[in-house]
Amino acid sequence: MKYLLKILSLLLLLVFSPVQADINVFACEPEWAALAQELGGDKLTIYSATTAMQDPHHIQARPSLIAKARRADLLVCTGAELETGWLPLLLRKSGYAKIQQNQPGNFAAADFVDKHDVPEKLDRSMGDVHAEGNPHIHTNPENILLVADALYKRLAEIDVDNSEYYLARYQSFEKKWKHSIEQWKTKTDVLRGVNIVTHHTYWTYLNDWLGMRVLATLEPVPGVSPSSSHLAKVKKQLSQQEIKMILHVSYVSDRPSQWLAEQTGAPVVALPATVDYQDGQTLSQWFDEVIRRLVDVK
Ligand SMILES: [Zn+2]
Repeated sequence: MKYLLKILSLLLLLVFSPVQADINVFACEPEWAALAQELGGDKLTIYSATTAMQDPHHIQARPSLIAKARRADLLVCTGAELETGWLPLLLRKSGYAKIQQNQPGNFAAADFVDKHDVPEKLDRSMGDVHAEGNPHIHTNPENILLVADALYKRLAEIDVDNSEYYLARYQSFEKKWKHSIEQWKTKTDVLRGVNIVTHHTYWTYLNDWLGMRVLATLEPVPGVSPSSSHLAKVKKQLSQQEIKMILHVSYVSDRPSQWLAEQTGAPVVALPATVDYQDGQTLSQWFDEVIRRLVDVK
């Protein structure tokens, strides 16, 4: 009996002892999971809804994702309609007030940067998946810094007790990141003014940051695969112009890019769409890899 009581009191102690209050973060894309990791360290439990090999425009709002969203204190997504095909449904099905739009638990990274290609008139009739402007903002490291500034403040708002901790981590991240930006800039000097072609307008912010000139995009409208007649038109449009490379994003078929490569002699450069967060890669390691692949093109 004595022995049983002892076990019982031990169990009660385990159940009622104060455990560290973790903030559950649901990131729509791995880049925001990785950024949250930088800013929140061990105060956060982070889940990424997608991997670097998935097209974030199109995933399924499957039950396991809904269950994860139900446990989230903070949703960190891109916004700008990148997740419009699945996130609204996921939020509705989760039925969780804390993470709905316009709540502190709902953070959209694109709200904190200047967006490119914002259409003057909203028109989805052509299947445009960038109806609110280009959402792939994470491909410019300057944008990462702007989002980091907003995200650490949001973490501090949600988890006031640890606000000093988030501020300190942000300051250390900012210092490291600014230093990396300088290094990446120096390394990529050779890419300024280089002519390129892209498949999807995935790398718009990166191209702009590096000063590369996009002569053509293979998709006629973002999210719409090029027909052979469209490809022929692009080829004609490019004649007489020297192209350094055809930029490709890892999650889409590279057939159109390979076709153009055969026609023009320019190499296809496949860049990883984002951080391989599941494998422990950091944002800075991902950028290192992107820059390495670009600079390696002879
Ligand atoms: Zn896109």
